[in-house]
Amino acid sequence: MNPASYGPTHATTLLTIDLDAIADNFLKLKKIAAPAGISAVVKANGYGLGIAPVARTLHGAGCRTFFVAHLDEGICLRKILPYGDTEIGVLNGLMPGAEEVYEEHTLLPTLNDLGQVEQWNAYCARKNNMLPASIHFDTGMTRLGLPCYEAEMLFSDPSRRAAFKTRFAMSHMACADMPRHPQNTEQRERFRIVADRMKDATAMLSASSATFLGSDWHFDMIRPGVALFGVAPNAERPNPMRSVVTLTSKILQLQHVDADTGVGYGAAYRTGRPTRLATVAVGYADGYLRCLGNRAKAYMGRHEVPVVGRISMDLVTIDVTDVPEEDILEHIDLIGPRHTVDDLAAEAGTIGYEILTLLGHRYARHYIGGVQ
Ligand SMILES: *Cc1c(COP(=O)(O)O)cnc(C)c1O
Repeated sequence: MNPASYGPTHATTLLTIDLDAIADNFLKLKKIAAPAGISAVVKANGYGLGIAPVARTLHGAGCRTFFVAHLDEGICLRKILPYGDTEIGVLNGLMPGAEEVYEEHTLLPTLNDLGQVEQWNAYCARKNNMLPASIHFDTGMTRLGLPCYEAEMLFSDPSRRAAFKTRFAMSHMACADMPRHPQNTEQRERFRIVADRMKDATAMLSASSATFLGSDWHFDMIRPGVALFGVAPNAERPNPMRSVVTLTSKILQLQHVDADTGVGYGAAYRTGRPTRLATVAVGYADGYLRCLGNRAKAYMGRHEVPVVGRISMDLVTIDVTDVPEEDILEHIDLIGPRHTVDDLAAEAGTIGYEILTLLGHRYARHYIGGVQ
């Protein structure tokens, strides 16, 4: 183990990212998908965890196909993974005039409509170079991708994509986190038609959640993101992934206050009894969402302790009255094995994705294991 710390030097909050757990999660998903292959989605700075250590660790675990959302993320990732054995796809589509940038950085555009297919085809024809690209088909997400009628036009006229290599034929599931949702089989059947008509391409449909719907959804390759980072692929079953993130904050001030004392902005919490309060340097500016005020739980050691009062920009107050004197510690765990990213997300009325991608830049970041 070779831990390294990044970020502010004097931070009192420590974000720990377990890269070995990310590698394990990759291998677990790979096993579930086999004989289908696996790629990894590392958009939004590796789901907030740091694109460089995340991507290097996944590469070290054997990942050779990566996806990001933005072209700039792809350029950044290409510098991190300069290897000729690694392909990097950019999901958000081919903007007019960006063709050369894709070629220069050896990136794979995702063609999201017939216009983009035509644009890439024309570029490759002009260059007389069969550069690879993905084609994204909309099978029910209704966000990006060729709609059905465009897909039909593409199938009936192969010359539209004759000048380039269709590396991936992809689609994205809308409801896969709800295993019994009828749209899951509808989208799979629509994508089966796509895969049958695009036999020269590698067919990929499943992100994290759909990977757990069963092998009928795996096609040639899966494309998970969030499950790599420990978030539960669906809410109905126990989380099979190893947790990756812990967030621990040193107490700035411990104080005893009387019953009927207002706490924080708006005095939005009033103590019902003599109370011991701990204040830590985490706030909504760090991605600890303001809606968590009077709702979130935290832990002091093994004791559950509630967040009381509003979340400030930089501070949170926590009621530690019920922690016995001998168990009082100098720090509080806001995210950890007893209180996961998913638990915190549920308290905020959101999803683990949002908690991860909002993790702030004022925390000290400590990486465990992996390839840094
Ligand atoms: C974000 C994204 C993924 C990864 O989704 P997860 O739910 O994080 O596994 C896969 N494909 C597309 C098109 C995406 O936008």
